[in-house]
Amino acid sequence: MNILVLNCGSSSLKFQLISTSLEQIKSGTDRMLAKGHIERIGGAALLTFQTAGREPERLARPVRDIKAALDAVLEWIGAENTSIDGVGGLNDIHAVGHRVVHGGEKFSRSVLVDDDVMRGITECIDLAPLHNPANIHGINAARTIFGKALPQAVVFDTAFHQTMPDKAFLYAIPYQFYRRHKIRRYGFHGTSHRYIAYQYRTIHQIPRENVNIITLHLGNGCSIAAIKGGNSIDTSMGFTPLEGLVMGTRSGDLDPAIVEFICDKEGMTVHEVDNMLNKSSGLLGLSGLTHDMRELIAEAEDSGDRRARLAIEIFCYRIRKYIGSYLAAMNGADAIVFSGGIGENSPLCRSVISNELSWFGVKVNEEKNFALTGGAEGIFSSDDSKIKLEVIPTNEELLIARDTFRLIDEGT
Ligand code: ADP
Repeated sequence: MNILVLNCGSSSLKFQLISTSLEQIKSGTDRMLAKGHIERIGGAALLTFQTAGREPERLARPVRDIKAALDAVLEWIGAENTSIDGVGGLNDIHAVGHRVVHGGEKFSRSVLVDDDVMRGITECIDLAPLHNPANIHGINAARTIFGKALPQAVVFDTAFHQTMPDKAFLYAIPYQFYRRHKIRRYGFHGTSHRYIAYQYRTIHQIPRENVNIITLHLGNGCSIAAIKGGNSIDTSMGFTPLEGLVMGTRSGDLDPAIVEFICDKEGMTVHEVDNMLNKSSGLLGLSGLTHDMRELIAEAEDSGDRRARLAIEIFCYRIRKYIGSYLAAMNGADAIVFSGGIGENSPLCRSVISNELSWFGVKVNEEKNFALTGGAEGIFSSDDSKIKLEVIPTNEELLIARDTFRLIDEGT
């Protein structure tokens, strides 16, 4: 089955076309056939399309809205010279899987789209006012183009963390705010943490209930999850993705009193401070140079830039503190698993994070650590390490495609 996986933002659309089936899932041979993204939707857009194994094609042209963006994707997929393996035209797309950011407390698993589900996603707009409307536009655009007969599934970023107990998800503010407005910790990157946990048990051939690991998704956005008995019992992102680790442009944890203080001192509105915490803080704010870890490491190494060094140090220190607290929350773990652009590609960050965990019995094998880059999977702890250190590349799109396939398969 060929599944079109869509991730629609307010001004962007990312897609992958993935071939999957029961056999392919079992053997891990399901694969990406084509992918691409469209940026700056609503104006002069940039379009990038790529068939697996070929060079990407880039073009610029006006794209009005999400529907027009999806039209452009499908036009490219159906074009004669695109030649995607096994896909001649739109009839060869058998289902669509959407990434949806917020499922609130309503959705604890992926579901097939129907009117009831659409109402549920709409009800969650309050919790994700920037993201859920864009996701809804994407689903509606696909429904308009393909018709209601083509199955569509939604996979929520929050769903995997719905197993968190109330002691982990409640903030210590008056309970009425939870009751009235559902203010609580939801957690995000759930699809990534779930994929990593699934890969972990596949690699080690253990049942789901024996998965006791800490997973680190370190990309532009960063989060950590405590997975006990196969379930997420805690995670660092909260009511919004702002909480937790230091990220590319987000501050992560901070004293909420700072918001009012900055408003007073700088004459900024709460909205402006919120924007600053989300868009110009984190690695970017600390270094004053870039949000990009690779560039930051190059800067620290080449010119010894003090603030670049400091940003890397604070980034790694925050992660180490969270690992320590999750080892306490879980009463121990079997492995710490690194993923995302930084987790998969930066032996330096992995080393700085892991080396001072020796009190917990963690032992790094630096040779193995520095050999693991470019999307490779593997263990980089010593054989006698009490807790395994591991890299497992994430693949959210693949999980969305597999969920979509499974939901259709279950329903037929
Ligand atoms: P997103 O969260 O947008 O999916 P990625 O998972 O691709 O992002 O991660 C992007 C981050 O990974 C950037 O900070 C980038 O610099 C970092 N990264 C990628 N390759 C390397 C590398 N070789 N060394 C250090 N950081 C890297």
